[in-house]
Amino acid sequence: MKVIVLVKQVPDPREYVRIREDGTLDREKARAVINDCDKNALEAALQLKEKFNSKVIAVSMGPPKAEDALREALAMGVDEAILISDRRVRGSDTLATSYVLYKAIEKLGPYDLILCGLESSDGGTAQVGPELAEFLGIPQATFVEDFEVKGNYVIVKRRIEGGFEKLKITMPVLLTISKNANKPRPTTFSGILKAVKKPVVTWSLEDIGAEVDKVGLAGSPTKIMKVEKIGSQRKRILIEGNDVEEIVNNLLRSLQEHGIILEAAKQ
Ligand SMILES: Cc1cc2nc3c(=O)[nH]c(=O)nc-3n(C[C@H](O)[C@H](O)[C@H](O)COP(=O)(O)OP(=O)(O)OC[C@H]3O[C@@H](n4cnc5c(N)ncnc54)[C@H](O)[C@@H]3O)c2cc1C
Repeated sequence: MKVIVLVKQVPDPREYVRIREDGTLDREKARAVINDCDKNALEAALQLKEKFNSKVIAVSMGPPKAEDALREALAMGVDEAILISDRRVRGSDTLATSYVLYKAIEKLGPYDLILCGLESSDGGTAQVGPELAEFLGIPQATFVEDFEVKGNYVIVKRRIEGGFEKLKITMPVLLTISKNANKPRPTTFSGILKAVKKPVVTWSLEDIGAEVDKVGLAGSPTKIMKVEKIGSQRKRILIEGNDVEEIVNNLLRSLQEHGIILEAAKQ
């Protein structure tokens, strides 16, 4: 079985990322890490490798420094790593990103499963997985919390509003993996040593046969009109009173005034 995992390098969400005057993220200065739920996708793929001896290939589109994310994926245990890095993909929106990933996957040949994260921690549109499945013309399941491979199909448990849905889907299929799916394994020292010896293969647009006018800003139908910093909505209200009973009553009245509770505070 061949499993392809999509790995996006993102600014560490645990650190402050500066927004430039033009509204774009100052990615160069930010510490870069593997997107959180891509680690869950990697873990799911590595469990398949252990169970079925699957071949696992990690694929990323990004600047040259995205090689670090792929090195970490190699250290976790993936077999091969492919980076599509080309100056002309700068400014790609989700459609152009999905197109580039589609062309790279097409070049990789037949596969059984494509696993990606549910969403990225920076862009956070959750569009790349579904768009990629459409480009490839294969079925997809999003918000996947668990899945099992049985013969030529997968049994998928995906979160839906108010509960879960169970689906049986014939492979090849694309799944977007949620953070609740598993606990990603840490990288070990021996894993890091093994990863050093494995190459990260870099492909250009020519290597994957991508059309230049379908990538970058030219190939991106999304136009950003304005980017705003959203300030905190929190405000502090001091509840006063002469004794506990009065304080509690004033608190209830305040909660009612703010529409948090419906029932009127009793005197
Ligand atoms: C007009 C415009 C210009 C932009 N310019 C830039 C730019 O210059 N540089 C830049 O970095 N971003 C740029 N972006 C952001 C970029 O479009 C998104 O980061 C990218 O398309 C992924 O979308 P997302 O972050 O919402 O991913 P989501 O759809 O939320 O990601 C879901 C999953 O898809 C996979 N995935 C997503 N992106 C990649 C990737 N690159 N490689 C491998 N797997 C991936 C991961 O598994 C991820 O968990 C731009 C966006 C717009 C609209």
